Amino acid sequence: MDFNFTNLSAKPSGETRHVKVLILGSGPAGLAAALYAARADLAPVVLTGMSLGGQVSLTHMVENYPGFPSGVGGQELVDLFQKQAERFGARVEFDTASEVDLSRRPYRVSTYNGEYLADTLIITTGATPIHLNIPGETEFTGRGVSYCATCDGWFFKDKDVVVVGGGDSALEEALFLTRYAKSITIVHRRDSLRAGAILQKRAIEEPKIKFIWDTVVTKVAGDEAVRSLWIKNIKTGAEQELPTDGLFIFIGHHPNTELFAGQLEMDGRGYLRTDVTMHTSVPGVFVAGEAGDPHYRQVITSAGMGAAAAMQAIRFIEELEAEEAHA
Ligand SMILES: Cc1cc2nc3c(=O)[nH]c(=O)nc-3n(C[C@H](O)[C@H](O)[C@H](O)COP(=O)(O)OP(=O)(O)OC[C@H]3O[C@@H](n4cnc5c(N)ncnc54)[C@H](O)[C@@H]3O)c2cc1C
Repeated sequence: MDFNFTNLSAKPSGETRHVKVLILGSGPAGLAAALYAARADLAPVVLTGMSLGGQVSLTHMVENYPGFPSGVGGQELVDLFQKQAERFGARVEFDTASEVDLSRRPYRVSTYNGEYLADTLIITTGATPIHLNIPGETEFTGRGVSYCATCDGWFFKDKDVVVVGGGDSALEEALFLTRYAKSITIVHRRDSLRAGAILQKRAIEEPKIKFIWDTVVTKVAGDEAVRSLWIKNIKTGAEQELPTDGLFIFIGHHPNTELFAGQLEMDGRGYLRTDVTMHTSVPGVFVAGEAGDPHYRQVITSAGMGAAAAMQAIRFIEELEAEEAHA
């Protein structure tokens, strides 16, 4: 099923619009937040950003989202999220926030097409896995190239896979892949790992894991699926073809939060800080999904956080309205 472009609302064409709930991002967190806010009759507006449906729309098959015993296409899943939110009055607009002013409420959000004043803001701008930027990487994403072992490990039962990276997450994910894969080859551009000592020991002692040092992957090759990689030793310059069924890239994630720099508290990597109620450091501004979550990074956890953030936004608006009524 294709993402439904025809359901996207008309552009606001330059005017300023006042909304009770503005949601930045159309991934699982944003669309789940939209569903909850819409069912509370708050007519939320969702700005899609450049990636309609978010990261999961890139993958062919999602097998770990409950309710779909045979799995569901990534795009189909977010299309269903969108339809469900729209059924209750959410508006999904093909627009991107370019600037925010969170110094006073209503919060001002400038977009490519206009401007919004928002009583509450739910930030679900997600994160982007850092790419190798090599030929074949994009083409084979979802067909053998992956950035998530929890999501895709199952597809590599008894297969040979390559992991790129040398930090904690690369080793954690490589160890996780030993549950499924026949062999895991870690290709690392240095001759030592950055990961913590315990993880290093576990990975080195694991019989399914072997290492290729001082080496980078330069190309992904295949037909309908990945069949091999081209790798290059950076010390000798020697290149060779490495047959494999999959490539897992764990060289880091980058939260899409630059827009909020200096206005919202972030950790050292740029993830927005939130309390247990999904509140950021500014009252009425909430964060859900990967923009504030370096840990779980799943559709279900992001959607769950989106629902929680919307419930808190609903409460915030109710309190605001009660205060105004008594003023
Ligand atoms: C290839 C791949 C396969 C995956 N497979 C699975 C899987 O099988 N199961 C699973 O549970 N998880 C999977 N994941 C992880 C899952 O996709 C993410 O955890 C989830 O999408 C995060 O949701 P999110 O809403 O927080 O952010 P994202 O999905 O990252 O969405 C962010 C949204 O914010 C928008 N945005 C960004 N900047 C702006 C802006 N300035 N203004 C407005 N909008 C903006 C983007 O356009 C996008 O719509 C996979 C990820 C990838 C990359």
